[in-house]
Amino acid sequence: MTLPTTHVSFPAGAVTGESTVLAVHPLDGGRYAVVTGATPFHPLDHTWPDQPADLGTLTVDGVELPVVDCLTGAVGPDGGSDGGAVLVGADIPVRRGDEEWSWLVLHVLAADPGDIVGRTAALAVDAGRRGALSASHSGCHLLALALNEALAPRWRKDPGRTDAFGHPDFDSLAMASSVMDTEASTDTYRLGKSLRKKGFTAEPTEEFPALADALPELTEAVNRRLAGWVAADAAVRIDVPGPELTARREWNCELPEGAARIFCGGTHLHHLGELAELRTELRLSEDGSELVAVTRPKRA
Ligand SMILES: [Zn+2]
Repeated sequence: MTLPTTHVSFPAGAVTGESTVLAVHPLDGGRYAVVTGATPFHPLDHTWPDQPADLGTLTVDGVELPVVDCLTGAVGPDGGSDGGAVLVGADIPVRRGDEEWSWLVLHVLAADPGDIVGRTAALAVDAGRRGALSASHSGCHLLALALNEALAPRWRKDPGRTDAFGHPDFDSLAMASSVMDTEASTDTYRLGKSLRKKGFTAEPTEEFPALADALPELTEAVNRRLAGWVAADAAVRIDVPGPELTARREWNCELPEGAARIFCGGTHLHHLGELAELRTELRLSEDGSELVAVTRPKRA
């Protein structure tokens, strides 16, 4: 049987839904993956695993089944080499969205749910956890824009990639990893030779001190900008070209400086007034090769 790519409602902020169970697949470790036609659950992305999985429950025939993890699965064009095999996470040999493949949200259960294929499942995401992850994810994108702005004078030449506000896109050019949890987003940037070749300078010049010495001032500038955006209660929405898990979605935020856009597969706040505060902390590694930003949202 060919499974269709799962339709998802999390980009609009949904945390509940109802859908038919299409398949149940055994996973390693005695766990089981339930596939439904549609879902509000956000799975961990196998290509860019920045936002952790939603947790929650599936209820089938009055029986509540805890969803202990949520992963991205994929089935190849010929149904997989061993006939309909669902590959999971790192075992998927192609990049997210390969059109020949079906892309599935896998609701992971710790025990065998029995024969539930064809039944209707009521899906419910842990809304508290989702809200915290959305706040961290929105904070992560805002940090990117504020940091790009604060570091803009340090580019000696145009690196060929700018953000929505026309600043050199330090965030995407230097990004090593971006990880969110329910408390914060942690963005790690590599300040290596290739970034320097593109024109970024961490060394002191006539205009500014070394990056290490400028850190307190930079942090303050970023936090001032973040506070202004939170105070402006800017609206946030996700533009969705289609209902499929793999649709190329875009985060949009109506900031006072203009509309900001960033491609994004995660979940977000609806407006920044849902936050009481958003602050980042910048740290530079001892050898100066890595900049880490830990950005904490405080919810209103
Ligand atoms: Zn994102």
